[in-house]
Amino acid sequence: MKIGILALQGAFIEHQAILDRLGVDTSQVRLPQHLAGLDGLIIPGGESTTIGKLMVAFRLLEPLREFGREKAIWGTCAGAILLSKDAGRDQPLLGLMDITIQRNAFGRQVESFEAALDVPALKPFNSNGSNPPYQAVFIRAPLIAAAGPGVEVCASLPDSRIVAARQGKLLATSFHPELTEDDRFHRWFLELAK
Ligand code: GLN
Repeated sequence: MKIGILALQGAFIEHQAILDRLGVDTSQVRLPQHLAGLDGLIIPGGESTTIGKLMVAFRLLEPLREFGREKAIWGTCAGAILLSKDAGRDQPLLGLMDITIQRNAFGRQVESFEAALDVPALKPFNSNGSNPPYQAVFIRAPLIAAAGPGVEVCASLPDSRIVAARQGKLLATSFHPELTEDDRFHRWFLELAK
């Protein structure tokens, strides 16, 4: 099993460090040929317009779309925006997931926050059968404003706004699991990529 991390901009090193710790073979993806032989790909948080423009510049848009039609992709924060079909403005997107995004839905960087989420899908990744809340870090985060019929809502805030969703092997999270010690999301993604 080998997982790629899109390394154009943003928090790719942090994702790679967690996968290294889990003993997973990883590589950084910057060009289309780097996708060969991968079982899954993580698109990190960062700035989605910048990452999208770099995807265009490095001719990655179509190869990434093709990859995502067969293999697992997990987008965190800016990565979730890039997986969506609509982010409310004109910017390059992969359009692989039937979700609509509202960017910067919680305000500016200084309004970043943490929230404890109930994520039933993480249950298999606890050792004792319990499923404690997942402490999620939101940094100038997007919101999943709408999810189509083929999309499973995986986590919501107490006011029921959606912050994690899955469509087959595609996973989108508004928050940053690479910035905390809790590696349950990474272990879940490895299952999706199998
Ligand atoms: N605000 C960024 C965007 O809209 C996403 C922030 C993040 O990835 N932490 O692209």
